[in-house]
Order: sequence, then C-alpha cells, then structure tokens
Amino acid sequence: MKKRIAILGSTGSIGLNTLSIIDHFPDQFEVVGLTAGNNIELLSQQVKKYRPRKIAVFNSAKAKKIKSLIDSSRTKVLDGLNGLNEIAASPDVDLVVAGMAGSGGLIPILEAVKKGKVVALANKEPMVMAGDLVMNEARRAHAKIIPIDSEHNAIFQCLEGKKKEEIGSVVLTCSGGPFYSWPKKKLSTVTVSQALQHPRWKMGKKVTIDSATLMNKGLEIIEATYLFGVSLSQVKVVIHPEAIVHGMVEFIDGIFLALLGQPDMRLPIQHALYYPERKNNTLPRLDLGNVSKLHFFTPDEKKFPCLSLAKQAREAGGTMTTVLNGANEIAVEAFLKKDIKFLEIPLVIKEVMHRHKVIQKPALKEILAEDKWAKQQAQKIIKKCHD
Ligand code: MG
Repeated sequence: MKKRIAILGSTGSIGLNTLSIIDHFPDQFEVVGLTAGNNIELLSQQVKKYRPRKIAVFNSAKAKKIKSLIDSSRTKVLDGLNGLNEIAASPDVDLVVAGMAGSGGLIPILEAVKKGKVVALANKEPMVMAGDLVMNEARRAHAKIIPIDSEHNAIFQCLEGKKKEEIGSVVLTCSGGPFYSWPKKKLSTVTVSQALQHPRWKMGKKVTIDSATLMNKGLEIIEATYLFGVSLSQVKVVIHPEAIVHGMVEFIDGIFLALLGQPDMRLPIQHALYYPERKNNTLPRLDLGNVSKLHFFTPDEKKFPCLSLAKQAREAGGTMTTVLNGANEIAVEAFLKKDIKFLEIPLVIKEVMHRHKVIQKPALKEILAEDKWAKQQAQKIIKKCHD
C-alpha cells in the first residue's frame, strides 16, 4: 500500500524537496493533495505530473485561474482556508507535510492533527503561536508530529527510545546566518540582498531573513519546548557554521548524542516520510575527512537581540509567543519591502511585546485575535517611524 501524502505549500522549498524524495520512491508514495499560495504556474505543472485528487489555492481568483490550466475533471480545485483545511483533514490522506511559511499554516495543521494524521512539520510558526494547543490536540487524537525542521528532526532522532527524565538539555545548532562574524556596528548597513544570502541553506525568504536576525533560532527554541516537552532552560543554542551537526541531546549523565549529516533538507524529509523505517537513497554522502573541522561558538545575544526576545516571550508564556511571531512576520515583510532597516526588526517586535497583555492558556479564538492584534500594532509602529 502506498502512503498517501498531502503537501501544504507544494511550490515552496520544503514542498519541492518533498516531491523530489517522492520522485525517488514512486512506488511508495501517492500525492493526493497539494496546496500553494501564489505560484499557480508551478502548481499546475505539479498537478499534471502527480495527478492529485485535490488541490487548494488560498486566493480564490488564482484558484479560478488554475482551473483553466489543468484538467479539472480529474483534480478538484478548492480555495480559501476551507480548501486548505479540506486537504489537510481529508480521509484519504495518511501523512500531511506542513511546508507553508508563517502563521497561515496554523488552522490547517490543527485540522490535520485533530484527524489523527501523521504531520511532517516544517512550518514552525504555528508551534510558536499555539504550541500547547497543537500538542494537546495531537495527544487527544493520537496524531504523530514528526519535525522536519533539521534541528528538531535531529533531536527527535537522538531522543528515540529515551525517557523524558533522562534529558539534560536539547541543543539546537545554528549556522549563524550571513552576519554572525560581522561587528555589531556594521549590522546597521545590512541590505535586503545581503540578508537573503544564507551561507548554508537555500530556503524561502521569510526563514532566510529570520536566519539572518537569528529569530529563526528563537522560534526554534520555542518550538523545541513544545515538541519535546522540555523547559526553556533545557534548550541550548550553539553557532556551528559548518552545519554538519544538526542537533544534539545532552543526557543527565553528561553524555551527548549528536546527529550529523549533509546540510540537505531532503534528509529530514525522507526520514519523516518513511518514519519509523529507514531507506537507502542516492543523496550525496557526508565525507568527514573532507569536512575536517567542526566549530562551535556561543551566540552573542547583544548582537542578535531577536534570540533574547524569543526567550523572553517563552518565559512570559501564553499569548506572548503568538505576539512575538505576529510582530516578526510584519517586521520581516517590511524589511523585505525596504520600509525598515535590519536593526529595526527587533525594535518593532520588542515594542509590540511591550504593549501586549498576556493571556495565559489561550483558546484558539484568543490566539487568532492576538495574532491579528500584534500584526496591526507592528504595522502602526512601522508606519509611525516612517511618517
Ligand atoms: Mg531549522
């Protein structure tokens, strides 16, 4: 029996890497649902190749347009949030790859989790917004969440068969982004194109900018606390420019387990698609003789304040991480549009967090309302700075 796969965000970097793994194992997987945000030309090519039963495009005008590009008698075209939800929760789907960027993935992921699906999770923002809610629903419905964010996938593998009480800390490695060796002063000159040059990974724009500010690592710290049920103080970050060690666990007896591999997203994706099995593949192998040296440094939180903002948000708990995430999404968007400078990203987030009154144990309705509030506040702050 083929595993039936739905991919949320099939035209993005995670989606394309997932499809390339599926191309390697055509007898093992069947693509039954795809969703995309903007790139309907590429989505229509994917429909012709994989013949999914359903696709969804969030924007209804674009959903209409794609009908003229494909054979819509064979593939049903859905739109809006309901369309994404229908694909995520579809009874003929075994595994959902959550590869969208940003907060828009939250509701579809919750729908998949409530239906007890296996969710291969790359989209970290929903965990930052609503980690407790997602994990509680997953427990209730016996859904399995397998992280494909490379660090969390590594830690997930290091933790297999281990007891929670045995964990001392989990260690997220961080390539450091393009600016880790820059003096703090020079960061005021960072341009959009410099920030989009990630030294190790080729990814979407949002996560690439987050990697440059180190907010990506901040979001990953929050994600790790929920995924692995550990406290904030049990999550450590080390800068590791070679990006060969993807994650580690230090156990209470002082022994570390580390996961090493090529910096290639197809590795954690294949692991998640096949879990709990492992399969041979033809991907490039790691040659440690060639790597020769591995470096580790402690990150400078003064230089990269997003990291400490994320920790403060997790410390405050409740809706504060939702607000951190919402403000960050708007600040990154504004930076990409050149409305704010690189060093203004953390300033906007800090100010929105400062204005926020935390709601502890929020319901979904409150999370969505605070996400919207944070985004509006960030927009106001950005507008005021530049009037
Ligand atoms: Mg990562």
